[in-house]
Amino acid sequence: MSLPYPGLPEPPEGDTPMLPPDTFAGRVVMVTGGGTGLGLAMGRAFARLGATVAIASRGADHRDRGVAAIRAEGGKAVGVPLDVRDRVAVTDAFAQIEDRAGPVDVLVNNAAGNFPVRAERLSANGWRAVTGIVLDGSFFCAQEFHARAMARAAPGSILNILGTFIDGGAPGHAHSAAAKSAVRSLTETLAVEWAPDGIRVNALAPGVFPHEDHSSDMRRNRPEGYEAERDRIPALRTGRLRELGWAATYLCSPYAAFLTGHMLVLDGGDRLNYALRRPVFEPVRDRLPD
Ligand code: NAP
Repeated sequence: MSLPYPGLPEPPEGDTPMLPPDTFAGRVVMVTGGGTGLGLAMGRAFARLGATVAIASRGADHRDRGVAAIRAEGGKAVGVPLDVRDRVAVTDAFAQIEDRAGPVDVLVNNAAGNFPVRAERLSANGWRAVTGIVLDGSFFCAQEFHARAMARAAPGSILNILGTFIDGGAPGHAHSAAAKSAVRSLTETLAVEWAPDGIRVNALAPGVFPHEDHSSDMRRNRPEGYEAERDRIPALRTGRLRELGWAATYLCSPYAAFLTGHMLVLDGGDRLNYALRRPVFEPVRDRLPD
């Protein structure tokens, strides 16, 4: 049932970029996990602004699909295999991208894993997988990016993709919430350490952005579907993928040259929606039964 209020308006139609069409011409943008979902949406937005997009992830099927989607729109893209948890593999992936497309100018740390689970049932492997992808992976890629930018005395920009649960935790998602909070801290630390080197480090925290690639684990959490979330968000709608593309490209563009250590929350007010009359508390073990 839709609420009888207009909510926040829809953004302009179409995938037209809001920045000049050559904003990223001649630049290489690496998007970890860029073959699916939000990573692909952001990669497409960079490609429309002239970037060559390097999609780095584990699955050849994901990478190929992402590269094909960008090329189908006339964009430039390459795929490189990478498990971001492996520090040596991160160096190899940057070297491969450099050989095939040129040095990386922009890094988007988007790769993530997440599944709903009660903390007492979370296995050591599950904990390590999620924190390893999100926290270790973001740090390893950022470190390699910085080393290479320093070696060629080039400026650069890093964008870390967070979630809206960076404050206050996320019952049922202990692994992901802890890791994303840590990446927010990393964003702020690296922004200060690396500003003198010409490297900006920002974060983008998306709210609910439905897309076709959501894992079945995450869909299980939302049996009525992602669109049904709209009535729970102050904006009375979910996010549109093009809105995420506009935000990511702006944050990494020369038009944001003075912006670093910032976290942009793009969620239609969802994060600030504290209930006036709070519902009866439902323990996570009742929400996530065996
Ligand atoms: P998704 O479709 O599940 O994409 C995750 C991507 O990460 C996949 O392409 C996957 O590719 C890659 N990946 C996973 N493990 C990896 C590893 N070890 N090494 C390299 N790549 C790896 O998720 P999404 O919904 O698009 O989310 C993208 C980002 O937005 C995530 O950081 C997520 O936390 C954040 N976010 C999403 C929403 C939303 O509403 N969708 C809301 C808030 C935040 P491979 O399987 O090929 O490795």
